[in-house]
Amino acid sequence: MKVALLSESPADEAALRVLVEAALAEPVVLVQPGLRARGWPNVAQVLPAILRHLHFNTDADGLAVVVDADDSVMHTAEHEAPGYFHPQCRLCQLRSVFRKTQKRFPRPHGRDRVLRAVGLAVPAIEAWYLCGVDPQVTELAWREGQARGVPPYTRRELKWRVYGTDRPSLVYEIQQALASVRRQRGDLRRLEADFPNGFGGMARELRDWQEDARNKETPPVSALETSPPSPP
Ligand SMILES: [Zn+2]
Repeated sequence: MKVALLSESPADEAALRVLVEAALAEPVVLVQPGLRARGWPNVAQVLPAILRHLHFNTDADGLAVVVDADDSVMHTAEHEAPGYFHPQCRLCQLRSVFRKTQKRFPRPHGRDRVLRAVGLAVPAIEAWYLCGVDPQVTELAWREGQARGVPPYTRRELKWRVYGTDRPSLVYEIQQALASVRRQRGDLRRLEADFPNGFGGMARELRDWQEDARNKETPPVSALETSPPSPP
């Protein structure tokens, strides 16, 4: 599959590629998104231009986007209700940018829309890197902490646990990010269980891509029918 990635930093992107390939169960060919983002809200700001670029100038099958939740509203199962949109949830916001932007694209030449996969790392992508290492770091722990008004850990602490510093060099950050996600790529179930909405939602969307690809491979029933015998 041809896939473009968008996240908050080159290190996040390196990890995202491994996770996307693990969820799709196949290597991907990377398509340049045309623009890079630097943190939130820049990701949401550049997303429409990236979608336009991918739709009109590339043959990308899909775009995977991951952002950190920081202290914003967590995406929960309630947000998945049809038509529901939480204006303070970054995942809901990004999905809405996809919908609004792609609605305006003409499809005259049969170009399919660029498929969507959006992830929300709660509270930051380092939480995903700690999966399987630190059982206290989960979406549930963060949600309960938010409800109590006492976060179970800070983003800075997560960075310390992953990198041994809260200011890693980019090279070291990429190295640690890759080591963490490569540990998990053989089996994403733990990551999906501990981060069911922010990671699980993205993994489900990625599996839908596979479904989409399979449907394209199977010709429609009408094409399978043999033409009626010609009259004698
Ligand atoms: Zn949401």
